[in-house]
Parts: sequence; C-alpha cells; structure tokens
Amino acid sequence: MNRDVPQTPYIDTDWQDYAACKGMGNDVFFPEESHNSSSTIYNKALSICRGCPVSRQCLMYAMYWEEGQFRRFGVFGGLTPRQRDQLCYGAQ
Ligand code: SF4
Repeated sequence: MNRDVPQTPYIDTDWQDYAACKGMGNDVFFPEESHNSSSTIYNKALSICRGCPVSRQCLMYAMYWEEGQFRRFGVFGGLTPRQRDQLCYGAQ
C-alpha cells in the first residue's frame, strides 16, 4: 500500500457558491420529522432544488458523505433521504 495516497479523497466544494439554497436556513432542508413521514415535509426544499444549477454536485457530495451512515437526513441534490436510500440500495 502506498502511504502517500490520502485515505479520504478530496471533495471539491466550490460548487456550493452557486447553490440555489445558499444562505437559506436549515429548517427548509432539514425539517423536523414528525409522525407523518410523508415526503410533503420536503416539498419546499425540493422545489428550490429543481432550479439549482449544482444539484448533481450536491447529490454526489451527499452520497459520498452518507456512505456507511445508519440514517440519512434532509434534502440534498433534489432527493429526500428515502430517495437517496433507494438510489444507493435500490427500490425496496
Ligand atoms: S440541490 Fe438543493 S440542497 Fe443541493 S445545493 Fe442545490 S438547492 Fe441546495
């Protein structure tokens, strides 16, 4: 094994300057989950993501950092936590 190779790849975050959600509060993208687990709680965030020019980069970023996590939170790349689970593990 080459010890000069970083164990964690560098992830560029310059794209965040172009995010449609830049400067918005977390409450929109990380709404408090209630007993109603319906995806409607994410509707406002999803509508913002639809017009975001960096949604692909955002999704790749989230999928990278969420890998191996027990649970996903919030909206990234125009997808809810459940949708990202399905993207990662396939529809269940
Ligand atoms: S895709 Fe959505 S969460 Fe990601 S940067 Fe764009 S607006 Fe923000």
